[in-house]
Amino acid sequence: MSQIDLILLVLLGVCFVLMALARSGAKRARARVDALEQMTRELRSGSARRAELEQDRRLVRLFLRELPLFMRELNGKKRVREIPSVMIDFVSRIFEPRGAVVLLRRTPARSNPEKEHQVIAAAAAGAALRPGTVLRPGCGILDRVLEAGRTFDRREFEKSQLEGDEEGDEQTDFRADLASPMWMDGEILGVIALSQPKENRGEAKYLLELIAQAGALALSNARAFNQIRSAADLDALTGILNKGAMSFLLEQAAERAAKDHSTLSIFLFDIDSFKNYNDVNGHLAGDELLRLLPRLVAENVRSDDVFGRYGGEEFLLILPERAPDEALLVAEKIRSLIEEQDFPFGKSQPLGAITVSGGVASLPDHAQDAEGLLRAADEALYRAKQIGRNRVLCAEDSRPKTFDGVSSVLPARDERDDLKQIRGIGPTFERALNDLGIFTYQQVADLNWQRMLMVATQLKTYPERIVRDGWMKQARELHADKYGRELPDQASAL
Ligand code: GH3
Ligand code: MG
Ligand code: MG
Repeated sequence: MSQIDLILLVLLGVCFVLMALARSGAKRARARVDALEQMTRELRSGSARRAELEQDRRLVRLFLRELPLFMRELNGKKRVREIPSVMIDFVSRIFEPRGAVVLLRRTPARSNPEKEHQVIAAAAAGAALRPGTVLRPGCGILDRVLEAGRTFDRREFEKSQLEGDEEGDEQTDFRADLASPMWMDGEILGVIALSQPKENRGEAKYLLELIAQAGALALSNARAFNQIRSAADLDALTGILNKGAMSFLLEQAAERAAKDHSTLSIFLFDIDSFKNYNDVNGHLAGDELLRLLPRLVAENVRSDDVFGRYGGEEFLLILPERAPDEALLVAEKIRSLIEEQDFPFGKSQPLGAITVSGGVASLPDHAQDAEGLLRAADEALYRAKQIGRNRVLCAEDSRPKTFDGVSSVLPARDERDDLKQIRGIGPTFERALNDLGIFTYQQVADLNWQRMLMVATQLKTYPERIVRDGWMKQARELHADKYGRELPDQASAL
């Protein structure tokens, strides 16, 4: 072996050693890189987890902060239909979803057994579902929650979708990302569902479950309350609402009117000389009259009017959104209906018929609240009794005001003229005129065009006919004959 060979051998050996060293260095470097990558991954997932936990914490904190108000609002609602809106308000504040809906199962009605299977959107926000929408069975995802009876989140929806169910809802465009059933006593009353809530993981699911449960409880309490109330609210003798129910409903109506800045009127009336009726005809006949009279009234009021017995022979009619003038006309119509009705033994009464006296009062004209309203109407009723009974007075009687030429204060019965004396006016026309608040020759003589148009519409005739028949001229002459003094001629104004 030459010297050169030896040197080459040594160099080869050195190369081997160097390569081995390099390889082990690279291996170590790779291991370090791997370790670093692992650390970075762990750090990343750790911070993601931390962010998740932080979001959860924020959600729970917000939930706990808003919970007392939610519970107070929920329990303050006595009406079943108000509860879903309270739930929607709450979930909107907590989850800020794109859409939210509370679906309720219709309670079975004997008259319509089909209804049992219907689901109705009781309240919604930002959803493709409008409140009041009725969903038939088979309404996709929400139906699945109702069937499964447990909370679904997006992952589970997707899983059940893979198992063959269709996405979305074929009756609506609502896509639920989180939905929880409202359980009560082994029965599902409905579902609350959110679409694209800000939070969909972690605690969100459990919080929505809590909300659904609180809603279910409030709903079932309200239903029980309504059932008990409907039994306790009716007066045993007459079958109409009793004083307790009327006070409650008046209170509510007054609060609503104050809130909406709308008007609300009441008509409080009392049977005249009822003690005499009992004394002459016996208590049983008195009871029978107390059954018959409210039936006649109930048949002649509007469906949104509320009518009930307010005392022994005293009745209350609540007239929502009716101004004093209108309420007075309604009251007068009822008074005259009663007077004209042929009730048993009516002739034996001091006025020769069954009659009532009453008072009308309105919010905000005569009072600020329910209590003041009743006081004002009662005071007017008392005055009506004082000045001879069988009449209706307005609480503001001492301050007459006019509307469109017609006094809002109805003339007492003996101050009314016989409008049938005017050619062209028969009993039907006279009644129709009375319904418009027109009772005297003077009022007819004062008819202006606007008023005449109203009269003509009410009588289903033309204003020209009123002019042709000369109602105003005749009324002026009849007035002059009866009262011995002329009315100013307003014909030039027409
Ligand atoms: P006014 O015209 O001033 O109202 O006289 P009134 O006789 O109607 O009034 P009063 O308050 O003197 O009498 C009311 C009567 O109503 C006395 C009471 O026995 C009778 N009454 C109250 N509730 C009932 C009832 O449920 N059945 C019967 N039959 N009578 C009743
Ligand atoms: Mg009476
Ligand atoms: Mg009385």
